[in-house]
Amino acid sequence: MLVTTDILFKEAVNSDYAIGAFNISNREFLVAIVLAAKESNSPLIIQVSESTVKFLGFDYISHLIGYADKFSENIPIVVHLDHSRRLETIVGAIRAGFTSIMYDGSHLPFEENVESTREIVKISKAVGIPVEGEIGKIGGVEEHIKVKEDEVIYTSVEEAVRFYELTGVTSLAVAIGTAHGMQKKNARINFQRLEEIHSKLPDVPLVLHGSSGVPKEDLKTAIRFGIKKVNIATELKMAMADGIKRILDGGAIEPRDYLNEGIENVKREVLNNIEILGSADRV
Ligand SMILES: [Zn+2]
Repeated sequence: MLVTTDILFKEAVNSDYAIGAFNISNREFLVAIVLAAKESNSPLIIQVSESTVKFLGFDYISHLIGYADKFSENIPIVVHLDHSRRLETIVGAIRAGFTSIMYDGSHLPFEENVESTREIVKISKAVGIPVEGEIGKIGGVEEHIKVKEDEVIYTSVEEAVRFYELTGVTSLAVAIGTAHGMQKKNARINFQRLEEIHSKLPDVPLVLHGSSGVPKEDLKTAIRFGIKKVNIATELKMAMADGIKRILDGGAIEPRDYLNEGIENVKREVLNNIEILGSADRV
């Protein structure tokens, strides 16, 4: 059952769990993620990046969204546009049936980020779609967006508060030490900074990007300090590749066989994350 992110946040904000936001590259990821949501009775967010939009096209994605809506039955799920920087993509996503979007203006100077985010919020909220904004600069590689280590900017507390008040975003992605695309769990979160932001914005759902690189215990701590959406992409790609490789190495050529193994692996990974985030049985 498709819902908007604010519905999920309303429940999560005053509770002790976070919602997993899992990226998809194709139908198989979507199937795996929805199966995990149903099995654990967990609300969750399915994320589509701009690169995946380019890869699949909005026509096909709009069918996938319809499929996800039916296939998820009574489990509330969101389909969210991840890291978008282009108005055409955002409007295209809303037309295709997305129920949440992220506008990433973090590459712009503060005032311009505020200005452009506010513009997107105005358009998006007019049709009832919540917006996630980003303040600070998260490191690593997110498909076509690269941020080198010396370009990473931790979110400042004062800017986070001003950004939230001026833009009207629903949720806020913060840069607190994680990086996109990490295949090892050695990211170090600046908990002090996170705690300061959370104490100034206690009712605002904060979003953690690059969570594949975060040790599980640290994820639990981050949830205590206001992280309500946890983005996971790299871990799922690794799980899909591992499953497919295992079957292909055995000499199989039937896509249904190796894709099903990939789906099983991704589903297991999503279930592990749901367990860590504490979102099972929250429907
Ligand atoms: Zn991200």
